[in-house]
Amino acid sequence: MLYQWKFRPYQRRFKQPLQTSHGCWAVREGVILRLVDDAGSISWGEIAPIPWFGSETLEQALAFCHQLPTVLTDDLIFAVPDTLPCCQFAFESAWEGLQESAIAQAAPQRDRGAGNQASFVTASSTLRPQNSNLAALNSAITVQNSALRDQSSDVAVQSSTLRDQSSEVAVQSSALRPQSSEVAVQSSIVAVQNSDSTDQNSVLRPQNSNVAVQNLICQPQSPVITAHIPSRLPTPDSQLSPSPYSALLPAGNLALHTWQPLWDQGFRTFKWKIGVEAIATELKVLDALTQALPKPAKLRLDANGGLSADETTQWLQACDAMIDPSNRGVVLEYIEQPLPIAQFQSMQDLTQHYRTPIALDESVATLQQLQTCYEHGWRGIFVIKPAIVGSPSRLRQFCQHHSIDAVFSSALETAIGRRAGLRLAASLGNPDRAVGYGTTHWFKDSESDAFEQLWQTL
Ligand SMILES: [Mg+2]
Repeated sequence: MLYQWKFRPYQRRFKQPLQTSHGCWAVREGVILRLVDDAGSISWGEIAPIPWFGSETLEQALAFCHQLPTVLTDDLIFAVPDTLPCCQFAFESAWEGLQESAIAQAAPQRDRGAGNQASFVTASSTLRPQNSNLAALNSAITVQNSALRDQSSDVAVQSSTLRDQSSEVAVQSSALRPQSSEVAVQSSIVAVQNSDSTDQNSVLRPQNSNVAVQNLICQPQSPVITAHIPSRLPTPDSQLSPSPYSALLPAGNLALHTWQPLWDQGFRTFKWKIGVEAIATELKVLDALTQALPKPAKLRLDANGGLSADETTQWLQACDAMIDPSNRGVVLEYIEQPLPIAQFQSMQDLTQHYRTPIALDESVATLQQLQTCYEHGWRGIFVIKPAIVGSPSRLRQFCQHHSIDAVFSSALETAIGRRAGLRLAASLGNPDRAVGYGTTHWFKDSESDAFEQLWQTL
């Protein structure tokens, strides 16, 4: 397959600069990719670097784009080097979007070609998801085998009748969605589980995933896939379970004036940046914030690796003291990346001495780092920023083979990157934890899922 493509840089100004222990961030810059396949289908990708987080710089990403030919192949898309993780994410997620379009377009033909697959349709309508609280309601499911050479382990279910619904889900998911709308979103999601195929597929399914696979019908519909391309296609949106969003609060006592409107919008999990002001000041704000937040709020503290060992101990002690007995409504969910990356072992040791969980973020910015931390024994929380971590297919593979407590989080990208990130979050993240995508209130421009429109403004 050949893909025509173009790229355009963008800039988005924050409503107010984002203060973190890394400094002050006023403008988000990135690159939007537009891929067009032979059939004329369009898909989008986003390069959203955060160099101080370990990704490539914007200049490196742009230089890479400039040297690519104007027509891409599958091999080129899957040959983006590991040194450019944001580019890997952008090109692969755009590619995956085109595969989904191809499946969606092929589905009606398969429906007609399959004739009366009555027994399968009937069976599917009674199937229920194994790990999901969602009702299975689809009555017309067709099956898409993305790689027949691996039929027994790698067949994706594709519901043509739910295609429209899944689009709606994607739109809702990528907007700033309060939790209160979750029921409505969930009602349009279907996941199915074929008990006959459970054994064959279970080893390849993530523990916390709502992904279900189906391999009853294996008619070749897809083009032959080369060795470079992952045989596992992304989970169709129709099978993804949305998680609640965590809203990002500003640093300092501004958080005290910011949480209420977000709470009113339906957010119940909040992330507050720490390590920005003096610890004594921030601990006072923590006390006030935890007194103010009503049940059942959850609070995450994000230090961005900016604390000293002594400060980390102070924060952990303060958080542990709030666990119980407590008359506060808030649950302190975790402290995120208290120490710099180089102090991995110290963070590992601290998990043994305090009850407040620690999450790694900067330490696991890229897939290589994530793998290394896992190999070194980290079994705490992993904060994964899909836009920075690298190849979606390899991330999917890692999460499907290792049971990790993963929280997916925004890199303050546009709706294009967020849609792709949320797709990964829904199939690979811990469903009991809110995704860190409550960030659109930080930007001046309104979010839009009309990607072509967005493209025209660049
Ligand atoms: Mg963080």
